[in-house]
Amino acid sequence: MTPFKFSIADNPTAAIAALTKNDHAAFLGGGTNLLDLMKEHVTNPTEIVDLGKLAFKEIKNTSSGISLGALAKNTDTANHPTIRKDYPLLSKAILAGASAQIRNMATNGGNLLQRTRCSYFYDIAMPCNKRQPGSGCAAIDGFNRMHAVFGWSDKCVAVYPSDMAVALSALNASVKVMAQNSTERTIAIHDFHLLPNDHPEKDNSLKHGELITSIEIPKNNFAEHSAYIKVRDRNSYAFALVSVAVGLEMNGNVIKAANISMGGVAHKPWRATNAEQALVGKAAVLANFEKAAEAEMRLARPLSHNKFKIEMGKNTLINALEAAYKG
Ligand SMILES: Cc1cc2nc3c(=O)[nH]c(=O)nc-3n(C[C@H](O)[C@H](O)[C@H](O)COP(=O)(O)OP(=O)(O)OC[C@H]3O[C@@H](n4cnc5c(N)ncnc54)[C@H](O)[C@@H]3O)c2cc1C
Ligand code: SF4
Repeated sequence: MTPFKFSIADNPTAAIAALTKNDHAAFLGGGTNLLDLMKEHVTNPTEIVDLGKLAFKEIKNTSSGISLGALAKNTDTANHPTIRKDYPLLSKAILAGASAQIRNMATNGGNLLQRTRCSYFYDIAMPCNKRQPGSGCAAIDGFNRMHAVFGWSDKCVAVYPSDMAVALSALNASVKVMAQNSTERTIAIHDFHLLPNDHPEKDNSLKHGELITSIEIPKNNFAEHSAYIKVRDRNSYAFALVSVAVGLEMNGNVIKAANISMGGVAHKPWRATNAEQALVGKAAVLANFEKAAEAEMRLARPLSHNKFKIEMGKNTLINALEAAYKG
């Protein structure tokens, strides 16, 4: 690891000021991703500002839904009684990620900002536009089995790894951030993570020094009919090959509303709008689930080693819709 200055912020203003002064400083949440990146020299901050003493750890009901403190641990979020009862999709997605030990350390804000698991990104001997802009992409003609089938560019074909964010996308969450002078802004989750286009080094729309303070989830009617299905190579410590988060609102057997997001297929949680449109107003039967899955995956552009994700995506979508309907 490269030597760095370390401080523990007493308040958000001090934390934000430290980063504003230093372009090479970084916040520390649980450290479960940042420290790995530092050990591999993928990122070399000269200063680390620990957020552990700040508030922003509460999970609380609001008039419009629920607010998740950015520094609440993933475990506490997944096991919170209101999350389990009213937002079970989120609970299922978090518990499908990482391992119990990592979830005990990982924070909600850090989870959103975890970086891709593309192996070339972690190997500093290889070209990678995300790590070193302009150096090329080793994955596009390399071993790209884990990579994207939607939304990729010729600059980067990596996928975004968070399970939690896939559920947050299906739940139309938004991210509250604080900048200098305590100014705040709220970013819809769909605008928070970015597709790679020409700048894959930019994973999200956060500016340097902006602190995530909370994640807001609006009320919904999906609690009875939601599912998160994750297909992976191993049962633990494995990122999604494909995952699907589904929330259905039913009127008898008819689908009144369908929110669907996919993980493991794009540079951000992939909102499956074509599948959603194919389902609204239709009966919840297998034939309609198949048509919806087909409508979404028809638009996929596979790479040389990941054509299997098309069939896998279809089947996972169908399974998740069936599981959500059964409740
Ligand atoms: C072996 C292993 C397996 C894993 N498997 C999975 C998996 O299957 N699914 C999955 O979803 N995840 C998985 N993870 C990733 C894990 O979920 C993330 O590492 C974790 O959520 C990151 O949270 P953290 O608080 O530790 O972030 P940190 O490592 O502390 O920070 C990550 C980034 O966020 C920034 N940051 C942190 N908090 C804030 C804030 N409040 N405001 C602004 N910036 C902030 C940091 O500066 C850093 O850039 C795995 C990790 C490991 C090590
Ligand atoms: S896919 Fe993206 S992260 Fe992976 S090597 Fe290419 S540019 Fe880097």
